[in-house]
Order: sequence, then structure tokens, then C-alpha cells
Amino acid sequence: MKKDKQNKKTKNQFMYLEKYKLNIQWILPIFIIILILSYFGVDYVKDLTYQNVYNNITELSEQTTAQLNHSITEQKKFVEIMVDSINSGYFKTPEEIFERYSHDLENYHFTRLVILDKQGNGTTSDGHIVKNYHNIQEFFNQDTVYLSENRPSTVSDNQVNIYSKTFTLNKKDLVLFATVNTEDYKEILLRRLFHGKGGTYLINNNGSILIDSFNDIKENNINLYDYIKTSYNLDKEDSNKINFMAENIKAKQVGTFDIKLEKKTHFIHYEKLSVNDWYVVTLAPDDTIAKELTTFLGISLGVCLLVNFVIISICIYIDLSNQKKNHKLYKVAYIDPVTLLGNEAYFKDNGSIFLKNSAKNKYIIVLDINKFKALNNIYGYEFCNHILKTLGEKLANILLSNNITCRISNDVFATIFSYEYDIKHLLDTIFNNTSNLNIDGTSIHINLSIGVYKVNSKDVDINKALDKAYMARSKIKGLYNDNYYIFDEVLENKLVEEQKIESSMEDALKNKEFKVIYQPKTLTNNEKFIGAEALIRWYKDGDIISPSKFIPLFEKNKFIIKLDLYIFEQVCKDIVSWKEKYNYIPIVSINVSKEHFVDENFINEYVKITDKYNLDRACIDLEITESATIDGKVDVLKILNTIKEKGFTISIDDFGTGYSSLSMLQNMPIDIIKIDKVFVDKADLNSNQNIINYIMILANRLGVKTIAEGVETKEQVDFIKSIKCDMIQGYYYSKPLSKQDFEDYFNKNR
Ligand code: C2E
Ligand code: CA
Ligand code: CA
Repeated sequence: MKKDKQNKKTKNQFMYLEKYKLNIQWILPIFIIILILSYFGVDYVKDLTYQNVYNNITELSEQTTAQLNHSITEQKKFVEIMVDSINSGYFKTPEEIFERYSHDLENYHFTRLVILDKQGNGTTSDGHIVKNYHNIQEFFNQDTVYLSENRPSTVSDNQVNIYSKTFTLNKKDLVLFATVNTEDYKEILLRRLFHGKGGTYLINNNGSILIDSFNDIKENNINLYDYIKTSYNLDKEDSNKINFMAENIKAKQVGTFDIKLEKKTHFIHYEKLSVNDWYVVTLAPDDTIAKELTTFLGISLGVCLLVNFVIISICIYIDLSNQKKNHKLYKVAYIDPVTLLGNEAYFKDNGSIFLKNSAKNKYIIVLDINKFKALNNIYGYEFCNHILKTLGEKLANILLSNNITCRISNDVFATIFSYEYDIKHLLDTIFNNTSNLNIDGTSIHINLSIGVYKVNSKDVDINKALDKAYMARSKIKGLYNDNYYIFDEVLENKLVEEQKIESSMEDALKNKEFKVIYQPKTLTNNEKFIGAEALIRWYKDGDIISPSKFIPLFEKNKFIIKLDLYIFEQVCKDIVSWKEKYNYIPIVSINVSKEHFVDENFINEYVKITDKYNLDRACIDLEITESATIDGKVDVLKILNTIKEKGFTISIDDFGTGYSSLSMLQNMPIDIIKIDKVFVDKADLNSNQNIINYIMILANRLGVKTIAEGVETKEQVDFIKSIKCDMIQGYYYSKPLSKQDFEDYFNKNR
């Protein structure tokens, strides 16, 4: 249950661990844009296709009309020729005329010729007698060749159209008819029309239907406009379209439009014939001519959607794989793989954002587990990773809302949060909840050192704030029953002091303010001089500043790397001078800060200097702190081997404080173990006897020499002698001496 809560908490803090999310904010616009483009694209195609259909139907209609026109013109011409020849006086009787032209009738699709007088009496070319032909006056009123609308034939059941022209024969006014079967025209009209689904009307100028290729209309004199309106039950809009066509036809215009007939779109085109202001009205339903259109639009729309789908899919794919990549990079850059909390970079990036928010009472806490390295040695790496993970979870759990909790280095956690109540109360909660951890069923007791910095609004730089928390933490390291320190005025002053030191260090080096002094080392058994340790002093404005005041700072800002080499060179120069002056070379130990231990290349700098002064490196012992040898990040063994290969001897300084294991030491090419002062301290000598004994056993087993430092009293000397420690360094024999005093010392004691 609690674990669940924890998981949730961790998730909230690390949003980046959640599933990838689609970036709707840009996918949606793309989708919409493509959709709009598709819409306009399809719309454009639709327009184009409609235009095409319009053109198509217009063209078909024009062709039909042209054929009709052609037939009519030919027929008219034939009638004219006949009448011309009659008028020329060539024929004497109607029979002669019939005789002459009856053979040509078929070619012109005429059924017969008829010649009638003004009373409508006469004969036909095929031998019929006509009496009182109705409306005969209509034909006598025409000047030119006249084409009648359809009328019933007098000699058959068919409807006929009649070409007529008056003439005079034997001083009698007569009229010549050349009749055509209306069906023949219908055939022309039907010829090209849309697989029979469409059709054509031939109408006169008033809209009366002369020919109907649909064969729907049985009566005569039906008005096309009324017929369409009533039989299809047109709405107002479509009725208006029909009216508009009627007006256009009256005005002898042509046109095309679409209209809904029985819920189906139909296209209508009206085209004028060359005779009688007749019109050919072509009508075709959508599902015949628009069939192609519908299919085409369907395909276009389908293609557009498919393209859209493909593009969106590609976009989503690219987006997801980018996110995946970013997520991976993010994980590498920002997540601590052990605790799944953020790492230092995450802490700094997000911490600086946090510092800028408006919350009050913001705190930065830096904490680490006391003697974590010892735990590492005892329980192993894997197990200790569990400790770190559990501790991280507990911290995040305690701080619950609105915090950034990260593991920023080995066993160091940092958290930034805002807290309205007494911070000491929160610190107590942290201690109470973390002092006993259950790791895979094993109960582990840990002690935390916590440095606290309350951020005041002016101070928003995360690095500086973090430094202050670090400073506060370093105040309590190693003290019992004192587990936290809140950055205060004392530290603020120290900080100011440090800033002063930092701003003057480079100049101090140039001005040779750093000097070397030498503290002699004595052989335990015969109390003879055996060598010395070179120690740095800073002569600043008449004061002597001790290294404890500036070395930690220089280690932090890496100035120590320059300074160590400077001191090393000074020592080399001194040795050369003693060699020349006394023909004597004392063995000198020189401190090498762990900050050099990035890789083994730094040794080249040391070698270069000894070469420059032509010194045998066997006379130089490099003191390396035990803490430097147990740094997990660098290959210490390789570095030590290189040092050894170059001919230096190696002392492990401050031994006993760093918890290096026997197995580690066994492989290291070390010459001397320097037992740390704290164990030799006269006040704690009795309580530390066991540790010193243990170190002696270790050294003997490894076959390395030992030296005790910080030996101030006879009592300590006796003790060191009793345990057979090889050398002694301390005030008892000598304090660190200036170069001159040291020369006197070794000349007297060697
Ligand atoms: P360390 O390497 O452990 O040096 C021994 C320290 O013990 C020296 O302090 C020395 O003055 C002091 N000491 C020696 N005998 C006694 C004694 O009988 N009683 C007491 N109470 N102290 C004694 P010092 O010179 O202040 O140096 C402090 C630390 O500064 C050194 O500790 C070393 O870690 C560092 N240091 C000094 N010179 C250098 C240097 O050139 N380079 C580097 N990297 N560190 C240096
Ligand atoms: Ca030392
Ligand atoms: Ca030491």
C-alpha cells in the first residue's frame, strides 16, 4: 500500500517516465489542413467534373441538334429545288412532278409528295386523293419553305411533319407538301442519348412538345414546362429554373442547368434549331452521365483520405520515434539508474526553476550516509544500492508535495522544497524515518549528515545554494549526536573568507606567497632522521595561513592541481640545492591531492619536473590519502602502478579513516602506510589501540612500512615503539621547519 503511494509519488515527480503522448497540438492542425485541402481539392475536381458533364451534355445536345438541322436543311433545300423547277415551267401537271421526284423521296426521308389547291383538294405522289385538307390556309400564308409542326397524316396513322411551298401551275395557286414521318426525327433525337436513359424533346418556341423521344407523351400540344413541373412535382427553386429556361427559349437563347427530378439530379440542355425557332431540349439523369462523376469523386475522396491517413501515420511515427529518442536521451541525461530519482543535472536544471517560483520558505538540503564507504565494504555494492534506493524512496515520501529530490553523487542526496513550519521538525522526521532501513529483510542502521540552507530570495543561483548546503553539511561530518547543520552567519562569514581567498590565490602564486616547510620523520628504533614531509604554508600579509584554511577550497576549485605542482617543483629545487651543498639527498614526501586522480596522465607532469632537475625519483615519496585510493570512479590501481613504474615511492596518508579493504590494498603497489593522527591522538590512544594494532597487522601482512604521525609525547613514542611501527612523525621530534632550519636538523640527526 505504502509502496503504491510511493510509486505514484515518484511518477508525479518524473513525468518523463510516463508513456509517450501524441502531440495532438501539431498533429491535429496537420490533419485539419490536409482535410481542408482535400475538401477544396475534391470540390475543385467536382467543379471540374460538373463542368465536364455540362460540356458533355451540351456537346451531345449540339450534335443531335446539328444532325436534325442537317436533315431539315437538306429536306428544305430539296423542296426549294422542286419548287424552283416547277416555277421554271418545266412541269405541266402534278403527276409529272410526282413522276420526276418520287425516286428521290426516299433519299431525303420523305414519305410522299402532295399537291393541293387553296381548298385543300389534290393528290399524293403515292396515288391518294385528298379532300378538304384541314387548315390549308396555314400553308398558303408562308413565303418561304415552311415546316409544320406534327399533325396526323390523312393517309396513314402516323404523325407527320410537312414541308410546304406554294407555286403556280397553269395559273392555279397550289401548294407542294413533302411529308416526313415524325418518327424519323425521333430516331435522330434518340440516336446518341445516354444508353436510352436520357432523352430529348423537340419543342416549339412556346414550349409545346413536338417530339418526345421518351415516348411518354401521348397527346398533342402538351407544354414541356408544365409537363415537367407537374409530373415531377418540382419545388419552387426548380420551377424557377424551368421558367428561366422558358424565358431563355423565348429570347432564343441556349443554356444548360441541373435540376432535381424525383430526387435525382438531371442535366438539361436546350439548343435552338435552325427552323421555326424550335428547340431541342436534352434531359439526362444524374445516374447515367453523373455515374462517372460520382465514381470519380468517390475515388478522389478515398485517395485524399488515404493520403491523409498515410501522412498522419508517418507524422505520428516520426513523432513517437522522436519522443522515444528524446525519452532515452532524457533518461541518460537526467535519471539516476540506481534510485530512479533525478541525477545532479536534473537537480540543477529543475532546482533552478524551482528557486525562481514564488513559494515562500524554500530550503535546499544536502545529505549523505555517514561511513557509507564502510557499508559498501561490509555489504557490497549491490546491497548498498538497495540502501540508496530505499533511502531515496523514503525521502521523496516524507517530503511528499512539491519537492525535487535527487541523488546527486555516490551517497549524496539533495532535495529542494518549500516548508512553512519549523524545519527542525522536518529534519527530525527525516531522521526517525531513515535511521533503520529494512533491506531485503536485513535491518540496517544508518546515520545521516544533513546540511540545510534556507534560500533567501536574493540568492537564486542553484550552484551557490547547493554549495551553502554542502558547507553546512561539512560542519557536522563526524560529530556524534549532531546530525544536521543549518547554514548560518558563521558559515556566511566563512564563505566571504573563501571568496577572498579565491580572488587572491592566483596572485599569491605569482608573488611566491606559497612556501614549503619540512617536517622530519624519525626511525623508531634508533631515532635517526629518515626523511621529511613537505608541507605548504601561505605567507599572506605578514600572517601564515595554515593549509586546512585553503586546501579544501582549492580542492573544490581545482587550484590545488597547479599548487601541488608548484610545491613539487620547489621541493625538487631544494633537493638539488642540498645535493650540491651537502652532497646529501634526504627522502622527501610530497602530498598529492586526490583531485589529480582523473587518470594516470597527471604523473607525466611530475616526471617532467624531476627530469628537469635531473633527480632520482626514488628520493621522492608521494603521499596519497587513503580516500583517494577508494574512489570508485577512477582506475586507482592503474594510477598507482604508473607512479610506481616511474620510480616514486608511495605512502598512503591518513590511513584508517577511509576503510580501504585488505583485498584492495593487496593489489596496490604501496610502500608506506601513514597511520592517521586521530588514532595516535594522546587523548584517545587507549581507545584506539585496537585500531592501531589492526593496522599494524595489516601492514605486516602486506609487507609495507608504517609511520605514525601526530606524535607529540613520550608516552605516544613509547606506544609506537611497543607496536613496532617503523617511523614517527610529530612535534615530539620536530615541528615542520623552514628550509634553513631543516638543513640544520638533518645535518645534525642523519
Ligand atoms: P597531512 O598530510 O596529514 O599532514 C600532516 C599534518 O599534521 C600537518 O598539518 C602537520 O603540521 C601536522 N602535524 C604534524 N605533526 C603533528 C603533531 O605532532 N601534532 C599535531 N597536532 N599536528 C601535527 P598541516 O601542515 O597543517 O597540513 C594539513 C594538511 O594539509 C596536510 O595533512 C595535508 O593533507 C594538507 N597539505 C599540506 N601541504 C600540502 C601540499 O603541498 N599539497 C597538498 N595537496 N596538501 C597539503
Ligand atoms: Ca601528508
Ligand atoms: Ca596525514
